[in-house]
Amino acid sequence: MRYTDNMEPVFTLTSGPVNAYPDVLRGLGRTVLYDYDPAFQLFYERMVEKAQKAMRLSTRPVILHGEPVLGLEAAAASLITPEDTVLNLASGVYGKGFGYWAKRYSPNLVEIETAYNEAIDPQAVRDMLAKHPEVTVVSVCHHDTPSGTINPIDEIGAVVAAHGAYLIVDAVSSFGGMKTHPEECRADIYITGPNKCLGAPPGLTMAAISDRAWAKMKANPAAPRASMLSILDWEDAWSRSQPFPFTPSVAEMNGLDVALDLYLGEGPEAVWARHALTAKAARAGIKAMGLGIWAAREAIASPTTTAVRTPEGIDEARLRREVRARYGVVFSSGRGETLGKLTRIGHMGPTAQPIYAVAALSALGGALNTMGFRGDTAAGVAAAMAVIDTDA
Ligand SMILES: *Cc1c(COP(=O)(O)O)cnc(C)c1O
Repeated sequence: MRYTDNMEPVFTLTSGPVNAYPDVLRGLGRTVLYDYDPAFQLFYERMVEKAQKAMRLSTRPVILHGEPVLGLEAAAASLITPEDTVLNLASGVYGKGFGYWAKRYSPNLVEIETAYNEAIDPQAVRDMLAKHPEVTVVSVCHHDTPSGTINPIDEIGAVVAAHGAYLIVDAVSSFGGMKTHPEECRADIYITGPNKCLGAPPGLTMAAISDRAWAKMKANPAAPRASMLSILDWEDAWSRSQPFPFTPSVAEMNGLDVALDLYLGEGPEAVWARHALTAKAARAGIKAMGLGIWAAREAIASPTTTAVRTPEGIDEARLRREVRARYGVVFSSGRGETLGKLTRIGHMGPTAQPIYAVAALSALGGALNTMGFRGDTAAGVAAAMAVIDTDA
């Protein structure tokens, strides 16, 4: 049989968005309350408190009502001024991309760019800051999703804090799937969202803002106000006694509320453990099949996405088409510089279950064999099962 394009896939094993948890889907069907109904205002305040608990924050996070690109762009627009010098750390497509936003608000940009299968070395950041004492803002992407690689943001954060610069972190595809929190990496602005590891649909940004970042944004006359890009407008919106700048995305909030309940109820450590185990099983299987992991080293491979190097002579787009058509499984491609060079298996939220690694390996190995690549799918599956079966 073949899964045609108008049939829904069986498994969406992408690196986001992912299908939402069934409970989240039910949450999306809750009553759409009027935003000034006291019941909604109370709900909003409680929801922000749950987000604060999940992010292990000492301050209230801000919810912005657009998927996390809104939050990242808003961070650049609000925090960066023409007087700032920005050090942008680029180990992949998203890290590099933030530099273009930074450049819109300050002409002074320096970068550290690594190969896109590598990670940023904290020592290189220390050296760069010593060479450029004028740097006032540093930006970094934690999990550069199109590469499936993790940057050591807690170590980088310590280096940046010692220098005194503000730190902007994109943790969109890592938060909720591994141990990362804004205060642990000393971020001044930390952006994440519900649509990756929290297993809710795309449509919101969760942002942690430090006290000194609020002060810097308020002192910036060009920081957006009365705008979709504004962070400042939302500072007090969490409080049931304060107005909203505009109508919040009520249904999305209902979904996020359930996603946070699920995350906190299962226990963050347990959630991270199943992401880590799924990725570990996937990596073991990939290697046993005779394929390669894109990440230069296992230590920097993401627990929320496994990027598989495209074998010599294989057309990556055709590979994903075959995987979908034969098995009804959807993977993500690379992006920009990594497009065509790798295939990404996502382990995020509801798909961070070890058995999905087995399904992914079967589909990938099967499709590759039909394309003439002699991989050992059975060995891959056995290796993944061995990882799962020996786990405590
Ligand atoms: C998913 C993601 C975002 C959100 O952006 P989209 O490209 O719109 O999905 C931002 N940063 C990272 C690292 C992401 O993985």
